Order: sequence, then structure tokens, then C-alpha cells
Amino acid sequence: MRIYTHPACLAHQPGAGHAERPQRLQAVTEALREAFSEVPWFEAPRASRGQLLRVHDDALLALVLDTVVDGPMALDPDTVLGPGSAEAALRAAGAGVAAVDALMSGADDRAFCAVRPPGHHATGTVAMGFCLFNSIAVAAAHACDQHGLARVAVVDFDVHHGNGTQAIFDADPRVMYLSSHQLPLYPDTGRVDERGVGNVLNAPLAPGTGSAQFRAAWSERLLPVLNGFRPQMLFISAGFDAHRLDPLAQLQLEADDFDWITGELVAIAARHGQGRVVSMLEGGYNLTALRECSVAHVAALQR
Ligand SMILES: [Zn+2]
Repeated sequence: MRIYTHPACLAHQPGAGHAERPQRLQAVTEALREAFSEVPWFEAPRASRGQLLRVHDDALLALVLDTVVDGPMALDPDTVLGPGSAEAALRAAGAGVAAVDALMSGADDRAFCAVRPPGHHATGTVAMGFCLFNSIAVAAAHACDQHGLARVAVVDFDVHHGNGTQAIFDADPRVMYLSSHQLPLYPDTGRVDERGVGNVLNAPLAPGTGSAQFRAAWSERLLPVLNGFRPQMLFISAGFDAHRLDPLAQLQLEADDFDWITGELVAIAARHGQGRVVSMLEGGYNLTALRECSVAHVAALQR
């Protein structure tokens, strides 16, 4: 078990009052350092342009990396590019790439990337939903293209559907995308009939859904399909905004649910993927819940 982060991820400043604020990452890293003093931390490198171009087009790279900004610039009503954003986005994506390389080298079997901005809403061409680059997609593509893996899975339990990850991979049978999320909710995608080339599986959950229905959705619908896919490496879009305290959504999960789902995923990774799991922080907007859930998640990753 190892953890990647970088101080530059705190310098992405979406502006006063924005939910996706640097204090989120501070809360996560403080809680993890306190709970897991024995786990080694690594500084995230920058993703290279070539690594980003596996999933994004030139125009999005130019927008995020080459725009000169001296203050917060809104890309859409939710998504802001500021002076520190390019470096934060490069380090967030680079964390996942470095984690893949470390796991494929055999140096470790699990990695958690404590990074921001989040990534799963960014499509190949559009930064949206607080996300600039799709870091988990960059990491999954790196595992396939650089390391030659034929089957990797991205599992997304963030309360929002990872429309960007799905769109990037929905014609790529090497990558399976599985998500539980609240619907209706931003970005209003993730319906059960969105199946890609048979490599996409969505389990939308109604507002108010709690632990029992969440666990049933995974146990009965998502996990059997994931297990049948036999992923050689497992990626987790670890958003903790399905917690009952989260201000942006209405699911009713507890920290124990994130412990449970993580344990189930680790078991599948152990069965098919030599235990290899790369987890990346996505959403989660209540600091108390973020602390509790990130500790529960990393504890389960370590087991
Ligand atoms: Zn979210």
C-alpha cells in the first residue's frame, strides 16, 4: 500500500464558495497521515503530454495547459481554470500513471492517489463538472498501452455518474466501466441502457437510497459482471459524495459502506489481477465525511 499526492493539488483554486475546494484534499491527507503512519507517501510526478493524449485531444490540453490566466476563469458554471490549475491537473493525472507503473513493477499492490481536481466528468474533449483531465482514464489507458494489459476495469462509486470515463472507453473493449450513482443528478447520464460495446454497466440509484440498496446493487448486478470480466488491474474512482452528509447529493451511505465495497473490489482484484488496485480521489464535499470515508477506504485497501 502506498499513497500519492502533491502540494500543487492544493493550488487549484476554483474561487470562494466553490464546493471543490483545497480544504477537501487537506482533510483527506491529514486524516490518512494520522491513521496510517506506516504507509509510504510518494510525490506525484507530472503526467506527460503523450500520456494525456491517450484519452484527450490537443485542444483540451492546450486549453488547460497553455491558457494564460491571472485569476479564476470559468470554463462552464462549475469548472474553473486558475493560475495553479494546470500544475494541479498534471500532478493529479501523473499520480495515477506513477501508481500504475509501481504496481506493474511489482513494487506494491495497492495505491491511493490523494489528488484534486477530480477527473471522472472530463471527456476526451471537454473539461466539465469540476474536472480538467480525466486522471483515472489516463491511468487506465497507460496500463493498457504502456503495460499491454488486455482487461482493466474502472469502478466508480462516486455519487455522480462518470460520464467522461464512460465516453472515453465506451468503444474500447479492453476497459470495463462500472458505476453506481444517484439519478436524477448531474450530469444526467448513466442509465442502464448505456452499455458501450458491452463494456459499460450502470446502476442508477434513486435519491434517498441507503446502505442496503447500494450493497444489493453491487452484489447482485455490478460485482458479478466485474468478476466475470477478470480484470488484470482494477481502478477505483473513489468519490465519497454518496455519504449521507454530502451537500451535493441525496444518497444515505455511511463510511462502513465504503469499507464494504472496497473490500469486495480488493477480493476481485486478488482473484484476477494479482491484487493490483489503483484508487483515485474523486468527489466528496463534506469534510467530516471525507475524513471518515477516506480512512475506511484505505483501511480496506490494505487488508
Ligand atoms: Zn461526485
